[in-house]
Amino acid sequence: MKKLYADFLQKIDAGNLKRCTEELAAIEMGQTFRHYRMAAEYVLKLMQKNGFSNAEIIDFPADGRTVFQDKKMPLAWDASIGRLTLLDAPEEEVVADYSVHPFHLIKGSVATPPEGLVTRIITEQQFLAGEDPRGALIMLEPMTWPRANVLVPILDQGGLGIISDFVMGRYKSPDSLQWVNACTEGTDWHVTEEDRPFIGFTVSAKVGNRIRQQANSGALKVRVECDGRRYSGKLPLITAMLPGKRKQELWIIAHMYEPLLNDDSNGVIAGIEAARQIMLKGTPEYSLRLVFAMELYGYAAYTASRGSNLKNEVIGGCNLDGLGCVSNETMDLYAAGPAVPFFGNDLLKDAEKELKDVLNLKYKGTAYFDDMFIGDPTVGVPTVGLHGRNGGFWHNSMQCSTDFIDWKLFHKNTAMAAAYLYKVANYTGKASKKIPVTIEPIQSPWRDYARQMRIARKEAGFPHSLAKVPQKERISLPGGVMYDAFANVLCNMDGEKDLAQIIREAETETGKIKTEAEVKKYIDSVNFLVDYGYLEAIERPVIKAPEILEALQELGVARADVLLVHASVSKCGYIDGGAETVIKSIAAAAETVLFPTFTRPYIYLGGLNKGYNYRPYDPADYDAIWTGSIGKTLLRKFPEAIRSSHVTHSWAGLGCRAAACLDSHEACDSPTGRNSPMGKALDMDGKILYFGTGVAPTTFLHYLEDICNVPYLEAAVCRVKNPDSSLQTVLIEKHLPGHRDFYRKDAENCKFFRRAVADGLEIHSIQLGMGKLQLIDLRRLYEIGMHLLSEDPCILLCDDPNCLYCRKYH
Ligand SMILES: [Zn+2]
Repeated sequence: MKKLYADFLQKIDAGNLKRCTEELAAIEMGQTFRHYRMAAEYVLKLMQKNGFSNAEIIDFPADGRTVFQDKKMPLAWDASIGRLTLLDAPEEEVVADYSVHPFHLIKGSVATPPEGLVTRIITEQQFLAGEDPRGALIMLEPMTWPRANVLVPILDQGGLGIISDFVMGRYKSPDSLQWVNACTEGTDWHVTEEDRPFIGFTVSAKVGNRIRQQANSGALKVRVECDGRRYSGKLPLITAMLPGKRKQELWIIAHMYEPLLNDDSNGVIAGIEAARQIMLKGTPEYSLRLVFAMELYGYAAYTASRGSNLKNEVIGGCNLDGLGCVSNETMDLYAAGPAVPFFGNDLLKDAEKELKDVLNLKYKGTAYFDDMFIGDPTVGVPTVGLHGRNGGFWHNSMQCSTDFIDWKLFHKNTAMAAAYLYKVANYTGKASKKIPVTIEPIQSPWRDYARQMRIARKEAGFPHSLAKVPQKERISLPGGVMYDAFANVLCNMDGEKDLAQIIREAETETGKIKTEAEVKKYIDSVNFLVDYGYLEAIERPVIKAPEILEALQELGVARADVLLVHASVSKCGYIDGGAETVIKSIAAAAETVLFPTFTRPYIYLGGLNKGYNYRPYDPADYDAIWTGSIGKTLLRKFPEAIRSSHVTHSWAGLGCRAAACLDSHEACDSPTGRNSPMGKALDMDGKILYFGTGVAPTTFLHYLEDICNVPYLEAAVCRVKNPDSSLQTVLIEKHLPGHRDFYRKDAENCKFFRRAVADGLEIHSIQLGMGKLQLIDLRRLYEIGMHLLSEDPCILLCDDPNCLYCRKYH
């Protein structure tokens, strides 16, 4: 390979590489679909000029709706004006302007009226502390990624949008701008039809600091101007083929529409040059295909358009995403994921070894992330990746500057890529085979459960957008699938091996053992994907309604009971019909059932709110309920359910005595006092049912705290949405800040429950699948609890001397 490398190095014109990369990057810099089209046409012409006469552009929909392999295509976007002007300074000051640098305007931003609009800036901290964000721009914290977790709560509460000064390499480049992508409300990297309108600006770290400081010390008025437009358009892909002796193709992949010199304008230029050099050496063994497209989405669309499983047509691919070109930096060599054997992986190791005197290369093992995702056997294109390191920068506008690039190194690495690709394209050795390894099983409860599961793939490609799942029901899959061993799990699913074995294989392939909690997350994710048709269950344990009802009766639930229910649906293993089945079964066992539907409208609870899950209380907003899926499901799917009106600690329920329990709990009563549903359930000699949760969520213990007037209850300040959408601020006395001893996984071993059981409290218990159902009589708990609290008012607080909350009261 060394000879080939030297040969290519000599033949490749370094000046030409630099010139073309700069020309392409200059077009891509604009970020809009108008620029995408121009970039595609530039690349098409360049390929034709370089002798690829069959080069062509293929258009895919950019309608924000079409889905390929569960990648929802972007909604096209265009803009030419994007300007943010501070109006409070002695003179007006423009701090972000698309025409000065396109990165100032975040992709997907929508239009203002032509004359612009005047609004205010509030900081992220002010927003979280309850300042009304309606119509305002939120200046994010320096380390807040402008992504779904912050965008969603801002838009939920009527914010206009964001200003971000997040930048990778912040302290080395305080004047740089981040190229923001994936500023969407979900897992997608571009806005789709599901994303609500927003306007976003990027400013440098220096400017961001100034804006935050000004907004913190007073009002900050700005003018916002934008002509951004989202529309149904087309996304071009450019491809060409160099026929080889065999029809099977080797793909050269690089990303279009990424506006940085080395991410990935240079990858495209290097790919064209490497292919041209191989062409000049005569007909290769395998046909060579160039595919330049939008990362992830373009490749999902293209592989899907060719029928998805390309195992027999394509031998493999090489992704030149950010080909190394930063001085003194290593280029990482990622091998294709192990599910589809590829001799290109072995040649990659050879490259590292043979070129180590002349290049700084590092073989990094196998992976499925980014465009190596097409190495998934359902797509069948094992793809290696050559990724240069960036000196700690990433999507940083420094990468648009020609001085940032070591053009000599780029020249060398292009020769390296050409030499490697030449070797792969002309390989005539033996096909690569998967080497079987013996893997010792690991015993643990959830791994043993996984051993009973056999699952098959049903769809091509990794789940990504979860387009088949209603938006509100989506969960986050481990590591977004491709950045986690969960990718290996999916790739190794053949419908034959059990899931425990597959998890062990994934652990061996990635070199990291999963914790029990991670194993359970995998099982839950797999069951979720089966439910929504991404996977097929050949065999798995399923708990059905009659089994639940039987267990409840055996546990001691009687028909006339009033039940306070704490439930965690997944703790027992997979339940047919999920939360709905659990609710129906419990309602079949007892006449009156009540479930917590708690919310977090606190702007002050023992301290200022700092959590993104804060929402002003709105009884119509079921998404704000944080007590598991049961409460939400109850309110969405059981129209006969009724809910109490408390703003933080409402309960909802079914059955003949539900209204009597719920009606007296007023919006701003103490959350767990005499008027609460717990007080009423106690009057009716009710019971607490724990469905898989253990006793940690015993809210009734707070009822005891309220009745006993313990000193550590404190007022909370909450925000409540009025029917006309305006906000009011309310005070709720005797609220529940801080820590408790029973807030722990093994709550049965906390002080309170140990002593209560010693004093005769019975915790009835029965196994259901992997979890336990437990039942406690309220009257007994009340009597024993009151006694224990009178003996020791701190019994519900922990004894940890380092607990900043509990130690204040001992
Ligand atoms: Zn504590």
